Amino acid sequence: MGTIAEPDSGSSKAHTLDWLLRAEHLSKSYAQTQALAEASLDLYPGEAVAIMGPSGSGKSTLLHVIAGIISADSGKVVLRRPDGSGNDDIAALSDAKRSAFRLHRFGFVFQQGMLIPELTAEENVALPLLLLGCNRSDALQRANAELGRLGLSGLGGRRIGQLSGGQGQRIAIARALVTDPSIIFADEPTGALDSRTATDVLDALLATSEGAARALVIVTHDEHVAARCGRIVRLLDGRIEATR
Ligand code: ADP
Ligand code: MG
Repeated sequence: MGTIAEPDSGSSKAHTLDWLLRAEHLSKSYAQTQALAEASLDLYPGEAVAIMGPSGSGKSTLLHVIAGIISADSGKVVLRRPDGSGNDDIAALSDAKRSAFRLHRFGFVFQQGMLIPELTAEENVALPLLLLGCNRSDALQRANAELGRLGLSGLGGRRIGQLSGGQGQRIAIARALVTDPSIIFADEPTGALDSRTATDVLDALLATSEGAARALVIVTHDEHVAARCGRIVRLLDGRIEATR
């Protein structure tokens, strides 16, 4: 353990912590399109990383490969276990194991929240726990505790249609946090919000990694959002062009 040199990440900051997730030489093609080309990235506990780049540069593909939603053609994604007992190679897991692994270790926040309109806010937040086999009353209790921590206690009983865009995104953050994941992935989480609301949602998102054993990855087009992250990774034609 100890300090790890970071030849691939290009980060100017010397990290003294161990990485949480290490993605190495990821490549992915769709027919003639190379969506990812030898992309490598390490994520550290407590950090927020912005992924930027023009439309079609591979941002979503990188996020989805790192999160185990799709598989790369080549390369490796390894996640450290929270108990220090070793690492897991995400690509080596079967589909069923990978789904369970994602539910346990990752949280997701998308541009439009992707909340289920037929469920209340608290049921939406409880959903990842229910999918993991937690019983309903425990799941709802943990969901409400999460809503309370985010200052959303009053919204638990509402249907998604009764929430503003910003409230919906904060419910989505609660849902992402409820399993106490190692990494939260957010794809354009503030893209559909006005700037004032976007700031509130970004504050809530950044708080999920700050001082925590968790990393946050935000895909964004917005330089203001990226500027608030500790590190920016810039993609072009599937390659990581620069980090700061
Ligand atoms: P970004 O999120 O930066 O806009 P993407 O990762 O979505 O970029 O896409 C990278 C490239 O891969 C683009 O050229 C896109 O058209 C292509 N691509 C992404 N997903 C698919 C897919 N499922 N089938 C075919 N081409 C895809
Ligand atoms: Mg995208």
